[in-house]
Amino acid sequence: MSEMNCPKGHGAMVEKKVEKSVPFKGITVKVIEDAFVCPVCGLSAGTVQSAGKVQNALSEAYRQQVGLLSGEDLRRLRKGKGMTQADLAEAMGVGVASIKRWETGSIQTKSMDQALRQHLMTNAIESHVNGNRDISIPRILLVLTAFESALKRSILKENDKMLFAGKYLFYADMMAKKRLGRSMTGAAYARLPFGPQLNNYNDLLDEIRKADIFEAEALTDQELEIIDQIAKTFPKDRMVYDASHKEPAWLETKTGAPVLYTWADRLVAKID
Ligand SMILES: [Zn+2]
Repeated sequence: MSEMNCPKGHGAMVEKKVEKSVPFKGITVKVIEDAFVCPVCGLSAGTVQSAGKVQNALSEAYRQQVGLLSGEDLRRLRKGKGMTQADLAEAMGVGVASIKRWETGSIQTKSMDQALRQHLMTNAIESHVNGNRDISIPRILLVLTAFESALKRSILKENDKMLFAGKYLFYADMMAKKRLGRSMTGAAYARLPFGPQLNNYNDLLDEIRKADIFEAEALTDQELEIIDQIAKTFPKDRMVYDASHKEPAWLETKTGAPVLYTWADRLVAKID
């Protein structure tokens, strides 16, 4: 950046970021502009910026203010998903030039913004891994507590590795995903040699025991019904264990790999 002297003869001006309010598309947009300011008289002058750069700064600030994804957001989210501009264009059915323009200052329409969010912010993989819900440790404990009440016995035992509790949970989450479109706990499962199990159960065990069930969203009647039916179908630990080993979800998943909720519609245990 070149230097600039105060036109009033106070010597060198200092480069600073200055907030400016600019009318733009019917609203007042606050933009941060690089400017030279005279420390003596306070006179400020914009630095010589390309018209494109100014336009881009205005567009970024405008989009942020009206709740649209900014070009910077778009680039960051797209890269976070490992997509090229061409990948995103193809997924959205738009030309790659549109993606390029939005990332460098063009303002997308509200409906395009929603489509962009759908492609960049909803995570299809996670919905398969967590069953359309963020994992809730208190809710895991709540569901286990509901099972204990339905089974009239304890399933979360001292020094237990959740060998059986994990399978009751698995059925509860899978059935909820199948019937209600959403898992109960958001837990992810993995295919272990001894059945489907909470992913990272070793790390979660302690947290589950210490969780506060009152922090969990209460169970709905439909969820309680599912828990009840599972408890009636598998009154004994061994039964839920054996059933889980007959599920295609377990049989057809590689050891160590996530057991995806896409299997929910293919459960073979008869629970009703
Ligand atoms: Zn001056």
